[in-house]
Amino acid sequence: MTSKERAVEVLDILEKTYPHARIALDFSNPLELLVATVLSAQCTDVRVNQVTPVLFTRYRTARAYAEADLQELEGLIRSTGFFRNKARALVGAGQVLDEKHGGKVPETIEDLTALPGVGRKTANVILGNAYGIPAMVVDTHVKRVSGRLGWTRHRDPVKIEADLCSLLPRERWTDTSHLLIWHGRGICKALTPQCSICPVAHLCPREGVKRSR
Ligand code: SF4
Repeated sequence: MTSKERAVEVLDILEKTYPHARIALDFSNPLELLVATVLSAQCTDVRVNQVTPVLFTRYRTARAYAEADLQELEGLIRSTGFFRNKARALVGAGQVLDEKHGGKVPETIEDLTALPGVGRKTANVILGNAYGIPAMVVDTHVKRVSGRLGWTRHRDPVKIEADLCSLLPRERWTDTSHLLIWHGRGICKALTPQCSICPVAHLCPREGVKRSR
């Protein structure tokens, strides 16, 4: 079995294990997903989902964020942490969207990463989940689990993204992120990976090494 076939086999198994794996942030359009993803930095998705209903009702367009009163916006997102930086990023992103993109969230990684507060991870979240454009999101879970599975030897997220994209079929990139995140949260945990109940243990070099000792 080649490394690509092995990786696809892992995905097939994880898909059966986590049939409902999807993004955990609530949103109904690309702007809402952009805002939720910016807020999710250093914050749980659960907390973000508690904050966004009021926010999405108060600010419905990019211009609304561009013209937001900074103090009011800060107050609404305070519980997500780093609220001053996040509020500035949302106002800044709203201004660029309004002035350069007609209020629409762009659909390219270059335009997305040019927005204040939007890095490569956030851009890929938007491409994959709001626009259905295959994109590999590398967060802490994807980084850890893909490393343990032997899919990458890098620690730099950009290099990990490149490794995973060359290993896996393009049409599966977005789902790969969801599956590795769910597996990382549920079984392949940071401090205590539960290898004894892991459905892909037989395809994982880390577990294979342990079993051959
Ligand atoms: Fe993670 Fe262990 Fe499963 Fe490998 S066998 S993917 S290290 S839980």
